[in-house]
Amino acid sequence: MSTISASTPTTLQERKVVTAIPGPKSQAMHERRKQVVPPGVGAALPVYIDSAEGSILIDIDGNHFIDFATGIGVTTIGHTNGAVAAAVTDQVHSFTHTCFTVTPYEGYVRVAELLVARTPGKHAKRVMLVNSGAEAVENAVKIARKHTGKFGVGVLDHAYHGRTNLTMTMNFKNAPYATGMGPTAPGVFRAPGSYPFHDGLSGAEAAERTIWYFEKMVGAQDLACIIVEPIQGEGGFVVPADGYLTAVQEWCTKNNVVFIADEVQSGMARTGTYFASEHFGLVPDLMTVAKGIGGGMPLAGVVGRAEIMDDVLAGGLGGTFGGNPVSCAASIAVFDEVESHKLLAEAQRVETRLGNGLRELQKKYPIVGDVRGKGAMLAIELVETGTKKPNPAAVSGLIAYAAQNGLLLLSAGSSYNVLRFLPAVTMSDALIDDALSVLDAGFAQL
Ligand SMILES: *Cc1c(COP(=O)(O)O)cnc(C)c1O
Repeated sequence: MSTISASTPTTLQERKVVTAIPGPKSQAMHERRKQVVPPGVGAALPVYIDSAEGSILIDIDGNHFIDFATGIGVTTIGHTNGAVAAAVTDQVHSFTHTCFTVTPYEGYVRVAELLVARTPGKHAKRVMLVNSGAEAVENAVKIARKHTGKFGVGVLDHAYHGRTNLTMTMNFKNAPYATGMGPTAPGVFRAPGSYPFHDGLSGAEAAERTIWYFEKMVGAQDLACIIVEPIQGEGGFVVPADGYLTAVQEWCTKNNVVFIADEVQSGMARTGTYFASEHFGLVPDLMTVAKGIGGGMPLAGVVGRAEIMDDVLAGGLGGTFGGNPVSCAASIAVFDEVESHKLLAEAQRVETRLGNGLRELQKKYPIVGDVRGKGAMLAIELVETGTKKPNPAAVSGLIAYAAQNGLLLLSAGSSYNVLRFLPAVTMSDALIDDALSVLDAGFAQL
């Protein structure tokens, strides 16, 4: 076993820019890429990565970036965590694949046990594993349809659920996810959710509006499920008003509509709890998980009430790679690291340090309209001064400035006017403070 621990990276945890960004080697690599990879596969910052550890990405030109993207909320416990690396290495040497639905193995069962134990609710649960978040969402919808015998899928404004045919239909933004690639999937109905900064509604009022839309547009008699992100990811880290989620779920329960929480981005220690649902006292019927649960290895799943999950015929769920043993070994190590290094508390530390810094920036720069989020899932929404009109130019300006100065930041929001922060929960206070000083200088330059 490796002796490297999560909290002691050996790479110098420092920002260091030694070339123009992207550097000459990355630029040459990007030219090679363009010959063989279509532009539909994006690149937020085309620096090509050579190695990564903790909160630092090192590119092939030798630049060190402080990572506020974590591969979109995946390496939540830090890059190349020692325990994850050791677990993956051990597993690769015993076996890499059998297909769980052909000849099973313990790792899958152990991940299922951990997810049953760490997700909200003490009721009987089942877990099925797949490869990606979109696949998890697809399966959750299939399971809800089979259980209820109904077809309708309720989704919210600003939602993001993936890039398969069904999930691209479920996304709020048509462009770029579905433009020209239809027909989209039938049976998807959209309602406004809760967005306190813009709608000013209480949780109860916003829930009443959501329910009114679904009752009018489809009706409980045809609605199989409502799926929500407890904290919206791509939509801009929108935290719903208190009581919103539980009020929507109450209506679902009364009407035999399965309530699904998509915790693909907000789950797995990201927000200072195992799953963001806990912040709202929510116990979803089904939950989708992915991103952070594999520590960087591809793994996703659906966790849900046994009586719902058990309704699908044998063979109706699964896939060749679902619950790959190497990914499962990584996931078990992630759960172990969260427990042994008290990483939920670390996410809360990040929330305090980074959140306070962002609120300081808000006091200084009136284009910061809103600071929001939980744990290591924080965002600022940029507006035109004195209004709530989106200011996407400020966001792209700041992201470009940050990149030139060794900070990797991502945008979010339906109007691209949200700057999101998805650091590893292990990011040190020193790196957070350094990043805040870069941002401050970036704002001053705008
Ligand atoms: C990223 C994401 C997905 C899709 O996951 P993939 O692994 O990219 O397919 C689904 N839902 C949410 C909330 C996400 O953030």
